Amino acid sequence: MNADTGAVWLDEGRIAAALEAHKTEDPGLVAEILAKAEELHGLTSDDVAALLAVRDPELAESVFAAAARVKDRIYGRRVVLFAPLYFSSLCSNECLYCAFRRGNDAVRRRALSMEEIDRETRLLLRQGHKRLLLVAGEAYPGSGIDYVLDAIDAVYAAREDGDSIRRVNVNLAPLSVEDFRRLRERRIGTFQLFQETYHRPTYARVHLAGPKRDFDWRASVFDRAMLAGIDDVGMGLLYGLYDWRFETLALLRHIEHLEERFGVGCHTISVPRMEPAAGSELALRPPHPLSDEEFLLLVAALRLAVPYTGIILSTRESATLRQKALELGVSQISAGSRTSPGGYADGGDNKDYDAAQFRLGDCRELDEVVADLAERGYIPSFCTGCYRKGRPGKDFMDLARPGLIRRKCTPNALSTFEEYLLDYAAPETRALGESAIARCLDDLDDDVRAISERLLREVRDGRRDVYC
Ligand code: SAM
Ligand code: SF4
Repeated sequence: MNADTGAVWLDEGRIAAALEAHKTEDPGLVAEILAKAEELHGLTSDDVAALLAVRDPELAESVFAAAARVKDRIYGRRVVLFAPLYFSSLCSNECLYCAFRRGNDAVRRRALSMEEIDRETRLLLRQGHKRLLLVAGEAYPGSGIDYVLDAIDAVYAAREDGDSIRRVNVNLAPLSVEDFRRLRERRIGTFQLFQETYHRPTYARVHLAGPKRDFDWRASVFDRAMLAGIDDVGMGLLYGLYDWRFETLALLRHIEHLEERFGVGCHTISVPRMEPAAGSELALRPPHPLSDEEFLLLVAALRLAVPYTGIILSTRESATLRQKALELGVSQISAGSRTSPGGYADGGDNKDYDAAQFRLGDCRELDEVVADLAERGYIPSFCTGCYRKGRPGKDFMDLARPGLIRRKCTPNALSTFEEYLLDYAAPETRALGESAIARCLDDLDDDVRAISERLLREVRDGRRDVYC
């Protein structure tokens, strides 16, 4: 086995030793680590183990405060918005936590046709979305990966009032290097995949059948993606399956491995917690649940450990928790989501989940989420600039590291937000948004403000899709 086919970099003993060494919290050490984190160079996994040991609420507050400062210095008030598009619930795996698992009769199954994908995409365009995440189970109808490639083409080809989706990210089963090469040609943004758990015995217990049983093939997926030239990858875990501290350190080790081998880690980290899913006993009672406080500590520790890596939170979480997580680390959220194929055309509020992958914690529509963010001074961003200017993966990190991210991303966030406000927002949302933009401009350095004002002027004059 090598790194293209197996997790040769995963040393469970080392992770266990780090956790053992930091079993009890050490306020002096935590203060030192926080000071180091504020230099924005990231943390070692040993540092993170010490942060994850924090239990005292006051000490936890100091971690949250440091994470909030780091978040603000790098990302400002920007929050990237996207929507998932589930295009198939067919699956050959038996993941005990998921409603799409093959033996589950409690769910209605469906693989969308290209016409149906076009319709779903147009409905999302009508809401104002510009970035989609394509999601599917692992059993593609017809000729395998070709179905996925056609689905991507269908999304990019969809038009609504002359508007189109500008970036398609995907969350799919692991591929071979050869299939990754074909995927790359389709101009995807991020290739996303969650390891679910890095604890091998747990992995074997919850993945009972199908190709996903192979832990090593999954854990080596990003090596193959990068060998095929896809260096914009998104990692994640399904929190609730095993000890969240072990999982988080293993995830950081995975990132380190990619940095050592390819010079770039991951672009985003997703932090889903297990949600109830139709026909899943396990999802109703996660074996290692983590409390809201632990979840927030985890988000804060990740923000400090990998300051330039996006953290994604989906609509699995409630609106209240998402607000807190945004303050201290999360940089991308989904909004107005449906987790069943055809769910946007079907309508409904997604509380009924007999066709959905799992139940949502935040059922608000996009415009409600935007209004709420704007009211709290955030700038919802629909920007796809980096990807389309050819700044994915390593290039993005090179741009991000010196702190330039704010100089490009802030103007682009403002211009895409203004597009949304003019073209899609309800009148009250528009008023809230315009005042959030005005407040944001007041806080900018002169040069960034000048670029932002130029882009905003262009959008207000009727131009669309302007970015720097
Ligand atoms: N089928 C592919 C796979 O498993 O990698 C990709 C799509 S799968 C629908 C996307 C992710 O949904 C999984 O990686 C898993 O982490 C998450 N998921 C499954 N069941 C869930 C549940 N009950 N609650 C929250 N997330 C869940
Ligand atoms: Fe299939 Fe993915 Fe659900 Fe597992 S998590 S059952 S692979 S859709």
